[in-house]
Amino acid sequence: NLTNGSTIRVVVLGGSNVGKSALVVRFLTRRFIGEYLSGIEMTYQHEVNLAGNWVTAEICDALINKEEKNYFKDIYNNTEAFLLVYNVCNHDSFDYACSLAQEIKAYHGKPNSGSDIPLLLVGNKSDLDHFREVKQTEGEAFAKSMPLCHFIETSAAESYSDVERAFGLIFALVRSRIRTS
Ligand code: GDP
Ligand code: MG
Repeated sequence: NLTNGSTIRVVVLGGSNVGKSALVVRFLTRRFIGEYLSGIEMTYQHEVNLAGNWVTAEICDALINKEEKNYFKDIYNNTEAFLLVYNVCNHDSFDYACSLAQEIKAYHGKPNSGSDIPLLLVGNKSDLDHFREVKQTEGEAFAKSMPLCHFIETSAAESYSDVERAFGLIFALVRSRIRTS
């Protein structure tokens, strides 16, 4: 149950270079800097108000290390929601984000249950429309095919409001899930 002082954990996953760090930094600082350290995993703490309660959201800009045996278990067991980021200019990164979505739903063991863990599929770099390889409708269709999976496009580079909307949506999904369970 959600009370003042609770902690929730949101993990940002996806291929490299899709803009995971840019999205997280943009959300937390409102700034787009351009270059971000890669090769390290960062967890940030951010206070959010969910249904009247001040909650600490841990936002993890995750690195997937498939060599590490328990990696997926470790993230999946302590996480309330995932943002799965791809680059709209790179179809492989979309396929990868979709495979992560499937893996997460399979891990939670209820691939067809609406009560599953919330996912937000995020098509980033929407400002680079002339290099686009993934149509908006493809992202939408995939999200629709998964239980409790929403979809949004963002430009960490050009729109703070997109990024704010993405995180707002994920927090709202977490809130509705915790309150009804
Ligand atoms: P990560 O490896 O997924 O964490 O990706 P980064 O956040 O480090 O971003 C990779 C590169 O893409 C950097 O050069 C960013 O400046 C750039 N980038 C990130 N988001 C956007 C975006 O929305 N639009 C554009 N044009 N570039 C972006
Ligand atoms: Mg990064």
